Amino acid sequence: MVTLSGTQGAHPPLDDEGFARFAGQLRHPLIADLLSHTTPATRLSGYRNTANRRYHYERLPAWPTGLLVTGDAVTTFNPLYGQGMTVAAQSALVIRDGLARGRVNAATCHRIQHALAHTADLPWAVCTTEDIRYPGALGPPPSPLTRLVTCTADRLRSAACTRPAAARAFFDAVTLSKPVWRLISPSALAALALGPHLPPLDEPPS
Ligand SMILES: Cc1cc2nc3c(=O)[nH]c(=O)nc-3n(C[C@H](O)[C@H](O)[C@H](O)COP(=O)(O)OP(=O)(O)OC[C@H]3O[C@@H](n4cnc5c(N)ncnc54)[C@H](O)[C@@H]3O)c2cc1C
Repeated sequence: MVTLSGTQGAHPPLDDEGFARFAGQLRHPLIADLLSHTTPATRLSGYRNTANRRYHYERLPAWPTGLLVTGDAVTTFNPLYGQGMTVAAQSALVIRDGLARGRVNAATCHRIQHALAHTADLPWAVCTTEDIRYPGALGPPPSPLTRLVTCTADRLRSAACTRPAAARAFFDAVTLSKPVWRLISPSALAALALGPHLPPLDEPPS
């Protein structure tokens, strides 16, 4: 499967020829070379709905008994970040634990709805702090704290290219595989402080 992406109007075309031409404009010809030796097995498909959207149902003052809103119906993420299914799965656990605690009434459901909203807090922060950096992105401007987090994430991302401890911490955090506080483990902090120790590659190592 070959996935190409672009922003700000520079979208890959959905016809075979245009797709191959777009691949040819990448910084390295590797993907275009590979494509030129293949026959498409399916037609191309595109997806352009990359907005992050969140509904704060938990803030409603009253809540009906027996209703819970979960998954994409509460928070939709830019699919680029691959967070939605993980959040949906974590939300299922929140519902299971919340319902196991006793009688189901409007207050229980409202409490679970609050917990469901918090399940999305971290991935929401990851997606929105990144996406707001694109020119023309709609949303509140980044706060000084957000800018600090963004600078730290940039440094961690560069360090991750050459330091395994930074790479593990970075991918565990962005894929929601481990709790985010693991980012402040001694090995991850050391990798972050030291930064990248090799210059970036100028072509794919393959
Ligand atoms: C292009 C793309 C790539 C993605 N990649 C990733 C990824 O790599 N990793 C990741 O974690 N997440 C990814 N996601 C996000 C993930 O797919 C969603 O977050 C997840 O599927 C949400 O689950 P859900 O059950 O809330 O909604 P959905 O999976 O959308 O399920 C809702 C279901 O309800 C049905 N439905 C709708 N209306 C009605 C109705 N009136 N009556 C009956 N049924 C109805 C729909 O047909 C659908 O089957 C991606 C999303 C997209 C669009």
